[in-house]
Amino acid sequence: MKHLINTKALTVVVLSALMLGVLFCYISLSYRLTADDVIPVSHEFHLVAPDHLQYEQPSILRGRTDVVTVTPWLAPVVWEGTFNPVLLDSIYKPKNIIVSATVFAVGKYIMFLKDFLETAEQHFFVGFKVHIYVFTDRPNEAPQVRMAAGRQLTVRSVPSSKRWQEISARRMELIQTLIEEQLPNRRDDYVFCLDVDSKFHGRWGVESLGGLVAVIHPGYYKDGRSTFPYERRPASRAYLAPGGGDFYYCGGAFGGLLQEVHQLAKTCRSNFEADAQEGIEAAWQEESHLNRYMWINKPTKVLSPEYLWQDFKPQNPEVHIIRFSGVVKNYAAIRPNA
Ligand code: UDP
Ligand code: MN
Repeated sequence: MKHLINTKALTVVVLSALMLGVLFCYISLSYRLTADDVIPVSHEFHLVAPDHLQYEQPSILRGRTDVVTVTPWLAPVVWEGTFNPVLLDSIYKPKNIIVSATVFAVGKYIMFLKDFLETAEQHFFVGFKVHIYVFTDRPNEAPQVRMAAGRQLTVRSVPSSKRWQEISARRMELIQTLIEEQLPNRRDDYVFCLDVDSKFHGRWGVESLGGLVAVIHPGYYKDGRSTFPYERRPASRAYLAPGGGDFYYCGGAFGGLLQEVHQLAKTCRSNFEADAQEGIEAAWQEESHLNRYMWINKPTKVLSPEYLWQDFKPQNPEVHIIRFSGVVKNYAAIRPNA
């Protein structure tokens, strides 16, 4: 009898232990799978396509041969003909990303804003959530532009300035602070920082997304690096030595993930300010600092000059489409100083 009770008690203990074990595993597993606990996979890496999508078979033998489509550090260089817009849109659509754009329209540059905004409606991330931030000292003169559903415009006041170099330089500071407001919630979203004296003429979409995105300047892409207008004085923090630099990138368009652009803006701003303390202004202000930054921190995606052309330049044969282009302007008439 005694022996029997002991066996029963043992069975109860073993069974209870088993059940507790199962319960513990269940709780810890389900805890691990709660939404808050899942480590977010950056939009950049998790590329999921719908299986029903029909599109042209990709080839690794046929494609653009007249231009280089990858950098020596294996970042794609985006040219027309290197991507399938329908495929890319269907990969990025379910991600529900927000693409911000910053644009400065200080002083007379407010005159460019209407065309910039209207053409952005036609070509810039059409069908995606877009938030355009305009920084201006003339908020009352900001044009009323009809924005499609999911697209938003925010106008922010900034002080006027007597020097265009200062306006241009303060952009990094304002971009840095704007991103700091958004980072806690949206570190996986994207931002592009664009010149206002330009118009969109063709698609600028998700093919341009990447961690750190730079645009190759249309004026120098055929030239040797020794002739690039980098800052050449070693005393400046934007300095690039004669054998350095990959491409000459535009100050008028760059972007990427919020956290990457934040790092860029913060670095360029502090280097610019430290230079200023020592009485140095880099050759092309923040464009020089940006070029130094991109030399050290290689862009993960490079946009061809399709993404920032200049209206006064005739279209070159390798440029199959001009997506965004600077308008011809009379500097003396629109800048506060010559
Ligand atoms: N900018 C501005 N007001 C000025 C000068 C410049 O708002 O008086 C801003 C504007 O966004 C402009 C950018 O700074 O697009 C860069 O200046 P700009 O376009 O004159 O330089 P460029 O493209 O001619 O090198
Ligand atoms: Mn410009």
